[in-house]
Amino acid sequence: MPNMTLKTPVVWSDACLLHVPKGEVWVGVPIEGTEVPARAEVIVAALQDAGAVVTPASGYDDTVLTDVHDPELVDWLRTCSDEWQRGSYSVDPGQDRVVPYVFPTAALLCGLPLRSPTAVHGRAGQYAYDTMTLVGPGTWEAARGAVDAALTAVDLVASGRHETAYALCRPPGHHATPNGYGGSCYLNNAAVAAQALRTKGHERVAIIDIDAHHGNGTQAIFYDRSDVYYGSVHVDPAAGWFPHYVGHADETGRGDGAGANRNIPLAEGTPDDDWLAGVASIAEGAKAHGATALVVSLGVDAAINDPESPLQITDRGYQAAGEQLATLGLPTVAVQEGGYHLPSLGGLVVATLAGLESRR
Ligand SMILES: [Zn+2]
Repeated sequence: MPNMTLKTPVVWSDACLLHVPKGEVWVGVPIEGTEVPARAEVIVAALQDAGAVVTPASGYDDTVLTDVHDPELVDWLRTCSDEWQRGSYSVDPGQDRVVPYVFPTAALLCGLPLRSPTAVHGRAGQYAYDTMTLVGPGTWEAARGAVDAALTAVDLVASGRHETAYALCRPPGHHATPNGYGGSCYLNNAAVAAQALRTKGHERVAIIDIDAHHGNGTQAIFYDRSDVYYGSVHVDPAAGWFPHYVGHADETGRGDGAGANRNIPLAEGTPDDDWLAGVASIAEGAKAHGATALVVSLGVDAAINDPESPLQITDRGYQAAGEQLATLGLPTVAVQEGGYHLPSLGGLVVATLAGLESRR
């Protein structure tokens, strides 16, 4: 996209670089992590090349965090790495990251009440729901920095100074549930942004999630609520993709939230046209919901080159998605979710933001 200058403010916290996953454990095998600090660095560089102004995130207290997350989860994330470091795990068995190994699933508890384990290596499975999402020194600071970026972007939009703002959140957030973390996510940045927009007077808010994976955390946080619509287009979990258990088309909300949740699972190999039809459909849902503000969970891992998903979306497709969402004409906060192909990551984010700036 030659000669373009992005006008959307980019909010960023240097603290987001402090989380270094140092690998993950997948099907029992330690593998190299893909949610690395370099992701954020290439995105910042591409946005600056496109002329965007980078604004440092302001600091916020934890109030909005505990509106969307259980305070116990927040406490765990804040303290578990220090507790782990005080144990002997770094020496025996030689693991300096918090990794769970046993989980209090229904299969284990068999109807008995959950008792929080004494050992930190037991308690880890109470909050982490997978073995890929390790906590180390700096994880809390980075996750908190991502939340601050999202909240700063909300303020830029809610004040009326900007129609759209982008928060370069890392680690991402849409897999973080009310009381658990997984999928390389710890705190749910998009949910925090939506909640903050609600608090600032928007009676109805929509979250549109275009990451390649279903945002099970965001869905769970708002599943019983009518005030926040969640719509997601993602690779079909029934085709064998994370988060496997959640993200199906028949999950449409519950109780007061009935009808305010929309999932569009897509087949492996889905190209631009079908994906964009899905984006248009969930955007229609947001309009029908009566939302007056929009949060975009901007994952770019649906891209053709991305190692983490089989969807086949091009730069042009991402730009067109941005254009479609711009036609809603709503104050918009975009938060970074996934995207793991370092050579193309920055261009995909630039393309989407360029689309979001169009037709205003
Ligand atoms: Zn993803």
